[in-house]
Amino acid sequence: MVSIKTENEIKIIHEGGKILATVVKELEKMAKPGITTLELDRAAEALILSKGAKPAFKGYEGFPYSLCASVNENIVHGFPSNYVLKDGDLLKLDLGILYKGFNTDMAITVAVGNVSFEPKRLMNVTKKSLRLGIKKAKIGNTIGDIGNTIQRFVEDQGFSVVRDLCGHGIGKSVHEDPKIPNYGKRGAGEKLVEGMVICIEPMVTMGDYNLKKSADGYGYATKDNSLSAHFEHTIAITTKRPIILTE
Ligand code: MG
Repeated sequence: MVSIKTENEIKIIHEGGKILATVVKELEKMAKPGITTLELDRAAEALILSKGAKPAFKGYEGFPYSLCASVNENIVHGFPSNYVLKDGDLLKLDLGILYKGFNTDMAITVAVGNVSFEPKRLMNVTKKSLRLGIKKAKIGNTIGDIGNTIQRFVEDQGFSVVRDLCGHGIGKSVHEDPKIPNYGKRGAGEKLVEGMVICIEPMVTMGDYNLKKSADGYGYATKDNSLSAHFEHTIAITTKRPIILTE
């Protein structure tokens, strides 16, 4: 069931989202060659707690860390580890916080050090596909309109969208209805209504879109080991326009 948020609840989620965006920005600055993803996780947790919020992912479905850190072919839900980031890595950071009873969720891809042209293009295309998807997140449109827009843009650029994982509603729980796939048909699926709060999160691969479990046994990686990128924002559907709550 889709839970509709009141204006006041959206205001609270927006406060949380701003905190989350600040933390992610800090982590982005820290993600340089030489640092481990476990150090980033520690920093994430300390920053979140210092701002009066809680890490939303820690303990969620058995995930033992605050931050999801996935490098190169690994795409989402990666365990932070003693892996030392190196020049040219594509690092996906996915982070959620709980603030005043509500969750927010966001993800970015970071180019570590100097990244070559094609991986950079993968990143930029993924980021832009999120922007285009968000534009479709308005009353009267359907979930299919969001997915269709993301998929068409990504595939026109020669990349693939992941099918096995998707965006989602969010609120008192990290994952709520409805599911927001990054592919689909225009006009298909549920209609978007005022007060919905959803996470749109295109996951894009350079090769095939099929996934396998990561080496850590928890996260996901591309089956063909091709590079991947991921960007995510928490969005509110309002009468005016889609509001990005995690900026
Ligand atoms: Mg999410």
